[in-house]
Amino acid sequence: MMKLFKIFSCLLFACLAATPELSFSKPGEFMTAHYIDVGQGQAILLEFPKGAVLIDAGAQKDKAGNVTTFLRQFFARRTDLHNTLNAVMVTHQHVDHDLALQAVVQQFKVLNYIDNGQHDPHSSGKKQIWLEQHAAGLGIKYEAITFAAITSGHNLGGLTDAMIDPVSGDTTDPKIVIYSGAFDRAGVTWGNQDFKDPNNHSLVIKVTFGKASFLFMGDLEKPAIATVLNYYHGTGALHAGVLQVGHHGSANATTDDWVKAVAPHYAVISCGHWDFGVKLPDSTATRFTTYAYAHPNKQAIDILQTDIPDLRTVAINERIGVKGTAKPTVKPVFTDVSITHMIYATAWNGNIAIKATADGTYSIVTDRDR
Ligand SMILES: [Zn+2]
Repeated sequence: MMKLFKIFSCLLFACLAATPELSFSKPGEFMTAHYIDVGQGQAILLEFPKGAVLIDAGAQKDKAGNVTTFLRQFFARRTDLHNTLNAVMVTHQHVDHDLALQAVVQQFKVLNYIDNGQHDPHSSGKKQIWLEQHAAGLGIKYEAITFAAITSGHNLGGLTDAMIDPVSGDTTDPKIVIYSGAFDRAGVTWGNQDFKDPNNHSLVIKVTFGKASFLFMGDLEKPAIATVLNYYHGTGALHAGVLQVGHHGSANATTDDWVKAVAPHYAVISCGHWDFGVKLPDSTATRFTTYAYAHPNKQAIDILQTDIPDLRTVAINERIGVKGTAKPTVKPVFTDVSITHMIYATAWNGNIAIKATADGTYSIVTDRDR
């Protein structure tokens, strides 16, 4: 039988300041994943009845304050959490995933910090290096996650512990498990040039709340996607009701096999508006914009529309990328596409909140009714 989904898209908060916090009602036997509109970047707040976890703390440069503003509004509503994040996890070392990390740690209480342990001084993500140096002094426990540690002894159940899964529950205890992390960059085990990009070392995190589940994959690209898929083949480990689409909807981070293995009912893309960067002069600054990379990409959208069976109540038309590149001299190409399936993007919808009840029912609230 087809599963029924309640869909609520509201304009409730349109009159509030930027990055208004979306909410449904008082916490009960449900959790909510808040995909914060940070422009070209990613930050996702997981709200549980008895705690909160932040996955990524990134933003585009002029929206760094969106993360802390959102958290301040969140904690003003959830006073029972005492400005405390049970854990912050950064999927990989890039600035669009860690720009606001230092501000978050300085403005709120953070109990545990998890990343993949890659702290290259030449990478764009500088805040993780700062946090590793300051974690002990701030009383934050730190854990680095590698693929080798997760899969030690041919473990197929992923990795979890009291730091990765620090939130308890009453009748429903949320489960947080990590399925992928840093690969061996020296190439001894995974001697493949493709793994040089930090994106491939993204944490893959699954959150299960009763019968509901969410998968977060950072910016994992095709080489790592194939490796992770192969490792967990036939286990159902990656199966989830809601998929955070990899790498801001890039063509290199969504494959038919991957989406079929996850089999989501909803897909959420965190990215900036298509024209962010169009007015910037031809320079290095234009290489890291939504416009230059043309996110999200039609190839990814086409796969998601094919593999996600659930339809939107109303189709929307959005401008998406056909071709993008880091080279500022090459003009990106866009096209208009009708989004007919359950695909949401912070670029289109602003803040997105997906609520999941323990019985596996999902509902969605966004800033913009689209
Ligand atoms: Zn990214």
